[in-house]
Amino acid sequence: MLLIQNLTVRYRRKATATLREVSISVGAGERVAIIGPSGSGKTTLFRAISGFVPTETGRIMVAGADILQARGGQLRTLRRGIGVIAQQHDLIERMRVYHNVMAGALGRWSTTRALRFLFWPLCGELDEARVALERVGIAEKLRARTGELSGGQQQRVAIARALVQQPVIMLADEPVASLDPDLSQHILSLLCQLAGEARIALLCSLHQHDLAERYFDRILHLQGGVLSDYAGPAVQFATAS
Ligand code: ADP
Ligand code: MG
Repeated sequence: MLLIQNLTVRYRRKATATLREVSISVGAGERVAIIGPSGSGKTTLFRAISGFVPTETGRIMVAGADILQARGGQLRTLRRGIGVIAQQHDLIERMRVYHNVMAGALGRWSTTRALRFLFWPLCGELDEARVALERVGIAEKLRARTGELSGGQQQRVAIARALVQQPVIMLADEPVASLDPDLSQHILSLLCQLAGEARIALLCSLHQHDLAERYFDRILHLQGGVLSDYAGPAVQFATAS
């Protein structure tokens, strides 16, 4: 579903590349974790897949189509297939939970419909938001003000928003970095369960190797922009010192 081949990214005026010949493939329903220290290039990788940083070489295939070559309507369709869950969830706190959840539908809605929804949501639209919230276990928060939710609940809203997008790929960049250990487990197990059920290819960066080992099908290790197979915490610490 997601296939990255020899991806190299170099920020302007930087002598060394931030990502070097990175190759990854994630199948439908597969859950892949990327472990790597700060500055290893995790966020850069996610931003490259989302099209926010220019790539020097390589290919990024989404459901068989090269997203780096796509333009116009095809590019919009491919991007709509990629759900993003960030570390600092980018929810609008003063809006209701259903507003934030249905922001995932903006890619398939007209501007007029989006504006009408803001002030006058239809029953069917609220139902869609409720179904997504049920999947993340907080349906009762449908009409709550987003800013009043706890950190874990807000991360669930961000996942519900990604689900409403009906993605084929989900990118989660350190989705539990701001949560305590118990909540981190809940959120990761939920994310992996949903990806498996909906056959979504999940790529998720993490700091905690124990959580990666518990919930993910495969683990990759990113260091200094070079991706390799993960060989366990002992080896990781030995090479890092
Ligand atoms: P991680 O998410 O693993 O912490 P990043 O992808 O954020 O790593 O950063 C990888 C490297 O790229 C770092 O050395 C960082 O300083 C550099 N970098 C990140 N963003 C930019 C940018 N916009 N311009 C130049 N360098 C950047
Ligand atoms: Mg980062």
